[in-house]
Amino acid sequence: MPVTVVGSIAFDAVKTPFGERERMLGGSAVHFALAASFFEEVRVVGPIGDDFGNEHLRALQRRGVVIDDIERVAGGRTFFWRGVYGWDLNDRQTLDTQLGVFAEFAPKLSAGSRETEVLFLANIQPELQRQVRAQCAGARFVALDSMNFWIETARDSLVAAISEVDCVILNDAELRQLTEEPSFLLAARKVRGWGPSVVVAKQGEYGAAMVTDEGFFALPAFPLETVVDPTGAGDCFAGGFVGYVAAHRDAPLDHELLCRAMAYGTALASYNVEEFGTERIQRLSSEEISDRVAELSRITRFIEKPLPLRR
Ligand code: AMP
Repeated sequence: MPVTVVGSIAFDAVKTPFGERERMLGGSAVHFALAASFFEEVRVVGPIGDDFGNEHLRALQRRGVVIDDIERVAGGRTFFWRGVYGWDLNDRQTLDTQLGVFAEFAPKLSAGSRETEVLFLANIQPELQRQVRAQCAGARFVALDSMNFWIETARDSLVAAISEVDCVILNDAELRQLTEEPSFLLAARKVRGWGPSVVVAKQGEYGAAMVTDEGFFALPAFPLETVVDPTGAGDCFAGGFVGYVAAHRDAPLDHELLCRAMAYGTALASYNVEEFGTERIQRLSSEEISDRVAELSRITRFIEKPLPLRR
């Protein structure tokens, strides 16, 4: 089933202990679309400014991403984000967020995007996420991501947006901030009380955890010696996760399938962090993804042998 995504289409300025980029292709919808494009056709919804070069659109098109609903706003500036990471790559600081053309954007989706059965509301203004959700009334699986910026500036809208989706995929610190609950299980219980049945917490280098109607599941991150830039890892995780769901239109959307989707999300995220921005994912192959999922399966399995323990 094709996937529609709305989210930021951006220029990012990023500094990590391993280097920096001043103006690279980024944005939640872009990272998501590149990752999900390994599973299904992806349609991106969102605005760009005059400053967004065609070479960036071509990077999406090379992966078969449909750009009909990317609107170029004459005289407008593309969304811009600046962030910096210290030695703890799980902890980043946002230095600047400029909404640019997103400030005035009112999405009008093409028929192709509206008819989608799988929708991802990537990180962007919650009201915009809601407008897109409303236009995709027939979607069978809708997932949402957000971040501290929106929890702090638009919490009520964000909770309303969450109540309209099936699955929430949030960074674990942001899940705690949003729910004001100290543990993932309590936070997941609260979010599930708002409507979604699936809650995923992204835990950076520690992996990801999930609660569904059928229980709990967690995976570590794929072990890597070198991490260069975590920007977009969360969106690539979501791209792998939602992409995997979309590729299984005829299978029941149960816990088992969602556990496997977590593995694909984890594999995509692990490649993303090996280089800056979208650089690694732009030249990723499907064989590399399959190899990493197989390796993840191998390293997370263990055989229980009951041991009579001392009383
Ligand atoms: P991630 O590292 O997966 O959380 O996502 C990083 C991407 O999110 C970057 O490419 C940014 O352009 C984008 N981003 C940062 N802040 C925001 C925001 N407030 N709203 C939407 N997208 C954002």
